[in-house]
Amino acid sequence: MARIVQKFGGTSVGDMERIRRVAARVQREVTAGNEVAVVLSAMAGTTDQLVAWTREASAGADPREFDLVVSTGEQITIGLLAIVLQDMGVAARSWTSWQLPIRTDGAHTKARIENIDTAALEADLERGRVAIVPGFQGISPEGRIATLGRGGSDTSAVALAAALNADRCDIFTDVDGVYTCDPRIVAKARKLDRITYEEMLESASQGARVLQTRAVEMGMKHHVRIQVLSSFEDVPGTLVVDEDEIVEQEIISGIAYSRDEAKITVARVADKPGVAAAIFGPLADAAINVDMIVQNVSEDGDETDITFTVPEGDHQRAIDAIERSRDAIGYERLDHDANVVKVSVIGVGMRSHAGVAQRMFRTLAEKGINIQVISTSEIKVSVLIAEEYTELALRALHSAYGLDAE
Ligand code: ADP
Ligand code: ASP
Ligand code: MG
Repeated sequence: MARIVQKFGGTSVGDMERIRRVAARVQREVTAGNEVAVVLSAMAGTTDQLVAWTREASAGADPREFDLVVSTGEQITIGLLAIVLQDMGVAARSWTSWQLPIRTDGAHTKARIENIDTAALEADLERGRVAIVPGFQGISPEGRIATLGRGGSDTSAVALAAALNADRCDIFTDVDGVYTCDPRIVAKARKLDRITYEEMLESASQGARVLQTRAVEMGMKHHVRIQVLSSFEDVPGTLVVDEDEIVEQEIISGIAYSRDEAKITVARVADKPGVAAAIFGPLADAAINVDMIVQNVSEDGDETDITFTVPEGDHQRAIDAIERSRDAIGYERLDHDANVVKVSVIGVGMRSHAGVAQRMFRTLAEKGINIQVISTSEIKVSVLIAEEYTELALRALHSAYGLDAE
Protein backbone atom coordinates (compact mmCIF):
# COMPACT_ATOMS: atom_id res chain seq x y z
CA MET A 1 0.00 0.00 0.00
CA ALA A 2 1.26 3.45 -0.89
CA ARG A 3 0.23 6.94 0.08
CA ILE A 4 -0.20 9.11 -2.99
CA VAL A 5 -0.94 12.76 -3.69
CA GLN A 6 -2.52 13.30 -7.12
CA LYS A 7 -2.75 16.83 -8.52
CA PHE A 8 -4.89 17.67 -11.54
CA GLY A 9 -4.42 20.97 -13.41
CA GLY A 10 -7.03 23.25 -14.96
CA THR A 11 -7.39 21.50 -18.32
CA SER A 12 -7.68 18.14 -16.57
CA VAL A 13 -10.76 19.35 -14.65
CA GLY A 14 -11.99 21.62 -17.48
CA ASP A 15 -15.52 20.18 -17.68
CA MET A 16 -17.72 17.51 -16.11
CA GLU A 17 -16.58 14.80 -18.48
CA ARG A 18 -12.98 15.47 -17.54
CA ILE A 19 -13.81 15.52 -13.85
CA ARG A 20 -15.33 12.07 -14.34
CA ARG A 21 -12.10 10.96 -15.95
CA VAL A 22 -10.17 12.31 -12.97
CA ALA A 23 -12.52 10.39 -10.68
CA ALA A 24 -11.76 7.20 -12.58
CA ARG A 25 -8.01 7.78 -12.09
CA VAL A 26 -8.52 8.32 -8.40
CA GLN A 27 -10.71 5.26 -8.13
CA ARG A 28 -8.01 3.14 -9.75
CA GLU A 29 -5.53 4.02 -7.00
CA VAL A 30 -8.13 3.42 -4.32
CA THR A 31 -8.97 0.01 -5.79
CA ALA A 32 -5.27 -0.84 -5.81
CA GLY A 33 -5.39 -0.34 -2.03
CA ASN A 34 -3.59 3.00 -1.91
CA GLU A 35 -4.33 6.01 0.28
CA VAL A 36 -5.15 8.97 -1.94
CA ALA A 37 -5.19 12.71 -1.33
CA VAL A 38 -6.17 14.84 -4.33
CA VAL A 39 -5.26 18.47 -5.04
CA LEU A 40 -7.23 20.27 -7.73
CA SER A 41 -6.92 23.45 -9.78
CA ALA A 42 -9.87 25.50 -10.90
CA MET A 43 -11.38 24.65 -14.30
CA ALA A 44 -9.19 26.00 -17.11
CA GLY A 45 -9.95 29.68 -17.69
CA THR A 46 -11.82 30.17 -14.41
CA THR A 47 -8.99 31.84 -12.52
CA ASP A 48 -8.34 34.16 -15.49
CA GLN A 49 -12.01 35.16 -15.45
CA LEU A 50 -11.96 35.77 -11.68
CA VAL A 51 -8.81 37.88 -12.00
CA ALA A 52 -10.43 39.88 -14.81
CA TRP A 53 -13.51 40.57 -12.68
CA THR A 54 -11.49 41.84 -9.73
CA ARG A 55 -9.54 44.11 -12.10
CA GLU A 56 -12.81 45.37 -13.53
CA ALA A 57 -14.04 46.07 -10.00
CA SER A 58 -10.92 48.08 -9.23
CA ALA A 59 -7.39 48.39 -10.56
CA GLY A 60 -6.10 48.63 -7.00
CA ALA A 61 -8.19 45.95 -5.29
CA ASP A 62 -7.41 45.09 -1.66
CA PRO A 63 -5.20 41.98 -2.07
CA ARG A 64 -7.21 40.16 0.63
CA GLU A 65 -10.44 40.64 -1.30
CA PHE A 66 -8.64 39.83 -4.56
CA ASP A 67 -7.48 36.52 -3.04
CA LEU A 68 -10.94 35.73 -1.71
CA VAL A 69 -12.37 36.05 -5.22
CA VAL A 70 -9.65 34.30 -7.23
CA SER A 71 -9.46 31.36 -4.81
CA THR A 72 -13.06 30.33 -5.45
CA GLY A 73 -12.51 28.36 -8.67
CA GLU A 74 -10.88 25.54 -6.73
CA GLN A 75 -13.78 25.29 -4.31
CA ILE A 76 -16.05 24.37 -7.22
CA THR A 77 -13.85 21.60 -8.59
CA ILE A 78 -13.11 19.93 -5.24
CA GLY A 79 -16.82 19.75 -4.46
CA LEU A 80 -17.71 18.41 -7.89
CA LEU A 81 -15.06 15.69 -7.71
CA ALA A 82 -16.27 14.64 -4.25
CA ILE A 83 -19.83 14.37 -5.57
CA VAL A 84 -18.77 12.31 -8.59
CA LEU A 85 -16.61 9.96 -6.50
CA GLN A 86 -19.41 9.45 -3.97
CA ASP A 87 -21.76 8.64 -6.84
CA MET A 88 -19.32 5.98 -7.99
CA GLY A 89 -19.35 4.49 -4.51
CA VAL A 90 -15.90 5.78 -3.58
CA ALA A 91 -15.71 7.34 -0.10
CA ALA A 92 -14.48 10.91 -0.54
CA ARG A 93 -14.82 14.38 0.94
CA SER A 94 -13.56 17.84 0.13
CA TRP A 95 -11.73 20.14 2.55
CA THR A 96 -11.31 23.87 2.11
CA SER A 97 -7.90 25.26 3.00
CA TRP A 98 -9.21 26.97 6.15
CA GLN A 99 -10.92 23.84 7.42
CA LEU A 100 -7.65 21.92 7.67
CA PRO A 101 -5.98 24.49 7.82
CA ILE A 102 -3.21 25.12 5.30
CA ARG A 103 -1.31 28.03 6.88
CA THR A 104 0.53 30.59 4.76
CA ASP A 105 2.42 33.80 5.40
CA GLY A 106 0.64 37.12 4.88
CA ALA A 107 2.00 37.89 1.39
CA HIS A 108 -1.38 37.98 -0.35
CA THR A 109 -1.39 36.99 -4.06
CA LYS A 110 2.02 35.31 -3.69
CA ALA A 111 1.82 33.69 -0.28
CA ARG A 112 4.08 30.88 0.89
CA ILE A 113 2.78 27.76 2.61
CA GLU A 114 4.20 27.59 6.12
CA ASN A 115 2.44 24.60 7.55
CA ILE A 116 -0.32 22.10 6.79
CA ASP A 117 -2.28 20.54 9.63
CA THR A 118 -2.71 17.01 8.37
CA ALA A 119 -4.66 15.53 11.31
CA ALA A 120 -8.03 15.53 9.53
CA LEU A 121 -6.52 14.26 6.29
CA GLU A 122 -4.61 11.47 8.02
CA ALA A 123 -7.84 10.35 9.65
CA ASP A 124 -9.55 10.27 6.23
CA LEU A 125 -6.75 8.36 4.58
CA GLU A 126 -6.53 5.82 7.36
CA ARG A 127 -10.21 4.98 7.04
CA GLY A 128 -9.92 4.69 3.27
CA ARG A 129 -11.60 7.96 2.38
CA VAL A 130 -10.23 10.10 -0.45
CA ALA A 131 -9.39 13.60 0.80
CA ILE A 132 -9.79 16.38 -1.79
CA VAL A 133 -8.02 19.68 -1.21
CA PRO A 134 -8.05 22.94 -3.20
CA GLY A 135 -4.75 24.00 -4.72
CA PHE A 136 -3.40 27.55 -4.87
CA GLN A 137 -4.52 28.72 -1.42
CA GLY A 138 -4.23 28.74 2.33
CA ILE A 139 -5.09 30.92 5.28
CA SER A 140 -2.95 33.86 6.35
CA PRO A 141 -1.91 34.73 9.92
CA GLU A 142 -4.80 37.23 9.87
CA GLY A 143 -7.21 34.38 9.13
CA ARG A 144 -7.91 35.52 5.57
CA ILE A 145 -7.68 33.37 2.43
CA ALA A 146 -4.34 33.89 0.69
CA THR A 147 -3.38 32.63 -2.78
CA LEU A 148 0.02 31.29 -3.81
CA GLY A 149 0.57 32.94 -7.19
CA ARG A 150 -0.47 31.63 -10.61
CA GLY A 151 0.24 27.97 -11.10
CA GLY A 152 0.32 27.58 -7.32
CA SER A 153 -1.62 24.31 -7.18
CA ASP A 154 1.60 22.47 -8.03
CA THR A 155 3.09 23.89 -4.86
CA SER A 156 0.03 22.93 -2.82
CA ALA A 157 0.39 19.35 -4.05
CA VAL A 158 4.09 19.05 -3.28
CA ALA A 159 3.66 20.70 0.13
CA LEU A 160 0.85 18.29 0.92
CA ALA A 161 2.93 15.31 -0.22
CA ALA A 162 5.74 16.46 2.08
CA ALA A 163 3.40 17.03 5.03
CA LEU A 164 1.70 13.65 4.56
CA ASN A 165 5.00 11.91 3.98
CA ALA A 166 3.53 10.56 0.74
CA ASP A 167 5.35 7.98 -1.36
CA ARG A 168 4.59 9.87 -4.57
CA CYS A 169 3.31 13.20 -5.81
CA ASP A 170 1.79 12.79 -9.26
CA ILE A 171 1.19 16.02 -11.19
CA PHE A 172 -1.36 15.30 -13.92
CA THR A 173 -1.44 17.88 -16.68
CA ASP A 174 -2.19 18.46 -20.37
CA VAL A 175 1.23 17.28 -21.59
CA ASP A 176 2.63 13.83 -20.86
CA GLY A 177 5.77 15.00 -19.11
CA VAL A 178 8.55 17.53 -19.02
CA TYR A 179 9.98 18.15 -22.48
CA THR A 180 13.29 19.57 -23.69
CA CYS A 181 11.31 22.70 -24.64
CA ASP A 182 7.66 23.75 -24.60
CA PRO A 183 6.14 21.19 -27.02
CA ARG A 184 3.53 23.74 -28.08
CA ILE A 185 6.29 25.80 -29.70
CA VAL A 186 8.96 23.30 -30.62
CA ALA A 187 7.30 20.35 -32.33
CA LYS A 188 10.55 18.36 -32.18
CA ALA A 189 10.81 18.67 -28.39
CA ARG A 190 11.56 15.37 -26.66
CA LYS A 191 10.01 14.05 -23.49
CA LEU A 192 12.53 13.49 -20.71
CA ASP A 193 12.24 10.29 -18.62
CA ARG A 194 14.02 12.05 -15.78
CA ILE A 195 15.16 15.54 -14.96
CA THR A 196 17.17 16.69 -11.93
CA TYR A 197 15.56 18.93 -9.30
CA GLU A 198 18.18 21.55 -10.08
CA GLU A 199 17.42 21.63 -13.80
CA MET A 200 13.67 21.58 -13.20
CA LEU A 201 14.06 24.44 -10.74
CA GLU A 202 16.07 26.48 -13.22
CA SER A 203 13.64 25.67 -16.09
CA ALA A 204 10.62 26.61 -13.97
CA SER A 205 12.16 29.87 -12.82
CA GLN A 206 13.16 30.69 -16.42
CA GLY A 207 9.58 30.31 -17.60
CA ALA A 208 8.74 26.61 -18.19
CA ARG A 209 5.34 26.72 -16.53
CA VAL A 210 4.84 22.96 -16.42
CA LEU A 211 5.71 23.14 -12.68
CA GLN A 212 5.61 26.20 -10.44
CA THR A 213 9.10 27.15 -9.22
CA ARG A 214 8.21 26.89 -5.55
CA ALA A 215 6.83 23.40 -6.06
CA VAL A 216 10.23 22.25 -7.28
CA GLU A 217 12.00 24.07 -4.46
CA MET A 218 9.76 22.36 -1.95
CA GLY A 219 10.21 18.95 -3.57
CA MET A 220 13.97 19.34 -3.52
CA LYS A 221 14.01 20.36 0.13
CA HIS A 222 11.71 17.59 1.35
CA HIS A 223 12.77 14.85 -1.11
CA VAL A 224 9.30 14.50 -2.59
CA ARG A 225 9.11 12.07 -5.49
CA ILE A 226 7.46 14.25 -8.13
CA GLN A 227 6.18 12.81 -11.37
CA VAL A 228 4.69 14.89 -14.20
CA LEU A 229 2.29 12.95 -16.38
CA SER A 230 -0.69 13.19 -18.70
CA SER A 231 -4.19 13.12 -17.32
CA PHE A 232 -5.49 12.05 -20.73
CA GLU A 233 -3.12 9.31 -21.79
CA ASP A 234 -1.88 6.35 -19.81
CA VAL A 235 1.83 6.67 -20.54
CA PRO A 236 4.86 7.07 -18.25
CA GLY A 237 5.68 10.68 -17.44
CA THR A 238 8.81 12.47 -16.24
CA LEU A 239 10.32 11.85 -12.83
CA VAL A 240 12.10 14.69 -11.03
CA VAL A 241 15.14 13.13 -9.34
CA ASP A 242 18.49 13.77 -7.66
CA GLU A 243 21.49 14.11 -9.94
CA ASP A 244 22.95 10.73 -9.00
CA GLU A 245 19.81 9.00 -10.26
CA ILE A 246 20.58 10.05 -13.83
CA VAL A 247 22.84 7.64 -15.63
CA GLU A 248 23.65 9.46 -18.84
CA GLN A 249 23.65 13.17 -18.26
CA GLU A 250 23.23 15.35 -21.32
CA ILE A 251 25.01 18.70 -21.38
CA ILE A 252 21.78 20.58 -22.02
CA SER A 253 18.51 19.22 -20.63
CA GLY A 254 16.28 21.90 -22.00
CA ILE A 255 15.47 25.36 -23.27
CA ALA A 256 13.03 27.66 -21.51
CA TYR A 257 11.58 31.03 -22.42
CA SER A 258 9.75 33.80 -20.67
CA ARG A 259 7.79 36.58 -22.33
CA ASP A 260 7.12 38.08 -18.94
CA GLU A 261 10.05 40.49 -19.23
CA ALA A 262 10.50 44.21 -19.75
CA LYS A 263 13.80 45.91 -20.48
CA ILE A 264 14.69 49.33 -19.07
CA THR A 265 17.77 51.37 -19.99
CA VAL A 266 18.92 54.27 -17.86
CA ALA A 267 20.94 56.21 -20.45
CA ARG A 268 23.96 58.36 -19.78
CA VAL A 269 24.50 58.21 -16.07
CA ALA A 270 27.83 59.18 -14.50
CA ASP A 271 30.38 56.35 -14.39
CA LYS A 272 31.19 56.70 -10.72
CA PRO A 273 30.67 54.82 -7.43
CA GLY A 274 27.11 54.83 -6.11
CA VAL A 275 25.19 55.09 -9.37
CA ALA A 276 24.07 51.45 -9.46
CA ALA A 277 22.99 51.76 -5.83
CA ALA A 278 20.99 54.91 -6.69
CA ILE A 279 19.16 53.04 -9.48
CA PHE A 280 18.54 49.69 -7.82
CA GLY A 281 17.80 51.04 -4.34
CA PRO A 282 14.42 52.53 -5.29
CA LEU A 283 13.53 49.35 -7.20
CA ALA A 284 14.32 47.20 -4.17
CA ASP A 285 12.27 49.56 -1.98
CA ALA A 286 9.35 49.05 -4.35
CA ALA A 287 9.83 45.24 -4.03
CA ILE A 288 10.59 44.93 -7.74
CA ASN A 289 12.77 41.98 -8.71
CA VAL A 290 15.55 42.93 -11.10
CA ASP A 291 16.81 40.02 -13.15
CA MET A 292 19.40 40.64 -15.89
CA ILE A 293 21.74 43.64 -15.68
CA VAL A 294 24.35 45.08 -18.10
CA GLN A 295 26.40 48.21 -17.95
CA ASN A 296 27.98 49.79 -21.04
CA VAL A 297 30.69 52.41 -20.71
CA SER A 298 30.38 55.17 -23.30
CA GLU A 299 33.17 56.37 -25.56
CA ASP A 300 34.25 59.25 -23.37
CA GLY A 301 34.48 56.92 -20.39
CA ASP A 302 32.71 59.40 -18.12
CA GLU A 303 29.22 58.16 -18.71
CA THR A 304 27.56 54.81 -18.92
CA ASP A 305 24.23 53.18 -19.80
CA ILE A 306 22.71 50.67 -17.40
CA THR A 307 20.19 48.19 -18.80
CA PHE A 308 18.17 45.74 -16.73
CA THR A 309 15.04 43.61 -16.89
CA VAL A 310 12.03 43.39 -14.58
CA PRO A 311 8.85 41.27 -14.74
CA GLU A 312 6.44 42.75 -17.29
CA GLY A 313 3.82 43.30 -14.60
CA ASP A 314 6.23 45.60 -12.74
CA HIS A 315 7.28 47.52 -15.85
CA GLN A 316 5.36 50.73 -15.14
CA ARG A 317 6.08 50.69 -11.42
CA ALA A 318 9.80 50.34 -12.17
CA ILE A 319 9.73 53.33 -14.51
CA ASP A 320 7.86 55.38 -11.93
CA ALA A 321 10.37 54.44 -9.21
CA ILE A 322 13.34 55.45 -11.38
CA GLU A 323 11.67 58.70 -12.48
CA ARG A 324 10.97 59.63 -8.88
CA SER A 325 14.70 59.25 -8.17
CA ARG A 326 15.81 61.13 -11.28
CA ASP A 327 17.68 63.83 -9.34
CA ALA A 328 19.55 61.36 -7.16
CA ILE A 329 20.51 59.18 -10.15
CA GLY A 330 21.21 61.95 -12.64
CA TYR A 331 20.45 60.29 -15.99
CA GLU A 332 19.75 61.80 -19.40
CA ARG A 333 17.08 59.44 -20.73
CA LEU A 334 14.98 56.43 -19.81
CA ASP A 335 14.28 53.87 -22.58
CA HIS A 336 12.04 50.89 -22.16
CA ASP A 337 10.72 47.96 -24.16
CA ALA A 338 8.34 45.17 -23.17
CA ASN A 339 8.55 43.39 -26.54
CA VAL A 340 11.37 41.17 -25.38
CA VAL A 341 11.71 37.51 -24.46
CA LYS A 342 14.29 35.77 -22.32
CA VAL A 343 15.56 32.49 -23.73
CA SER A 344 17.61 30.20 -21.49
CA VAL A 345 19.54 27.00 -22.16
CA ILE A 346 19.78 24.86 -19.05
CA GLY A 347 21.80 21.83 -18.03
CA VAL A 348 23.92 20.62 -15.13
CA GLY A 349 26.35 19.24 -17.72
CA MET A 350 27.56 22.75 -18.59
CA ARG A 351 29.46 22.86 -15.30
CA SER A 352 32.03 20.58 -16.88
CA HIS A 353 31.73 21.54 -20.56
CA ALA A 354 33.08 24.63 -22.28
CA GLY A 355 31.50 26.23 -25.35
CA VAL A 356 27.84 26.02 -24.36
CA ALA A 357 27.32 29.80 -24.37
CA GLN A 358 29.33 30.19 -27.57
CA ARG A 359 27.07 27.75 -29.38
CA MET A 360 24.07 29.77 -28.29
CA PHE A 361 25.55 33.06 -29.49
CA ARG A 362 26.66 31.58 -32.81
CA THR A 363 23.28 29.96 -33.48
CA LEU A 364 21.41 33.21 -32.83
CA ALA A 365 23.91 35.16 -34.96
CA GLU A 366 23.37 32.76 -37.87
CA LYS A 367 19.65 33.54 -37.70
CA GLY A 368 20.37 37.27 -37.56
CA ILE A 369 18.95 37.60 -34.05
CA ASN A 370 20.47 40.36 -31.97
CA ILE A 371 21.26 39.63 -28.33
CA GLN A 372 20.32 42.56 -26.10
CA VAL A 373 21.36 41.29 -22.65
CA ILE A 374 23.15 38.16 -21.42
CA SER A 375 23.22 36.55 -18.00
CA THR A 376 24.61 33.24 -16.80
CA SER A 377 24.64 30.97 -13.79
CA GLU A 378 26.44 27.70 -13.19
CA ILE A 379 23.81 25.70 -15.05
CA LYS A 380 22.17 28.18 -17.45
CA VAL A 381 22.84 30.83 -20.06
CA SER A 382 20.09 33.36 -20.73
CA VAL A 383 19.77 35.95 -23.46
CA LEU A 384 17.24 38.68 -24.02
CA ILE A 385 16.04 39.07 -27.62
CA ALA A 386 13.17 40.75 -29.47
CA GLU A 387 9.92 38.90 -28.82
CA GLU A 388 9.16 38.40 -32.53
CA TYR A 389 12.06 35.93 -32.75
CA THR A 390 10.84 33.63 -29.94
CA GLU A 391 9.83 30.65 -32.10
CA LEU A 392 12.75 30.99 -34.48
CA ALA A 393 15.28 31.17 -31.65
CA LEU A 394 13.83 28.26 -29.70
CA ARG A 395 13.71 25.96 -32.73
CA ALA A 396 17.19 26.90 -33.91
CA LEU A 397 18.72 26.39 -30.46
CA HIS A 398 16.86 23.14 -29.97
CA SER A 399 18.47 21.77 -33.13
CA ALA A 400 21.87 23.30 -32.43
CA TYR A 401 22.16 21.49 -29.09
CA GLY A 402 21.11 18.19 -30.66
CA LEU A 403 17.85 18.00 -28.73
CA ASP A 404 15.48 17.38 -31.65
CA ALA A 405 13.45 14.18 -31.55
CA GLU A 406 14.19 11.73 -34.36
P1 ADP B 1 -1.82 22.76 -15.53
O1 ADP B 1 -3.06 23.54 -15.75
O2 ADP B 1 -2.04 21.28 -15.62
O3 ADP B 1 -1.09 23.14 -14.28
P2 ADP B 1 0.04 24.33 -17.10
O4 ADP B 1 -0.55 25.03 -18.27
O5 ADP B 1 0.31 25.11 -15.88
O6 ADP B 1 -0.88 23.07 -16.78
O7 ADP B 1 1.41 23.62 -17.52
C1 ADP B 1 1.46 22.75 -18.63
C2 ADP B 1 1.96 23.50 -19.86
O8 ADP B 1 3.34 23.87 -19.68
C3 ADP B 1 1.98 22.70 -21.13
O9 ADP B 1 0.73 22.73 -21.78
C4 ADP B 1 3.09 23.33 -21.95
O10 ADP B 1 2.60 24.17 -22.97
C5 ADP B 1 3.86 24.18 -20.95
N1 ADP B 1 5.31 23.94 -20.95
C6 ADP B 1 6.27 24.90 -20.99
N2 ADP B 1 7.48 24.37 -21.01
C7 ADP B 1 7.32 23.01 -20.96
C8 ADP B 1 8.23 21.91 -20.96
N3 ADP B 1 9.55 22.08 -20.98
N4 ADP B 1 7.71 20.67 -20.92
C9 ADP B 1 6.38 20.48 -20.88
N5 ADP B 1 5.47 21.48 -20.89
C10 ADP B 1 5.92 22.75 -20.93
N1 ASP C 1 -6.02 28.05 -10.64
C1 ASP C 1 -4.73 28.68 -10.38
C2 ASP C 1 -4.19 29.31 -11.65
O1 ASP C 1 -4.81 29.25 -12.69
C3 ASP C 1 -3.73 27.77 -9.76
C4 ASP C 1 -3.31 26.60 -10.63
O2 ASP C 1 -4.01 26.19 -11.54
O3 ASP C 1 -2.23 26.07 -10.37
O4 ASP C 1 -3.14 29.91 -11.61
MG1 MG D 1 0.17 24.79 -13.84
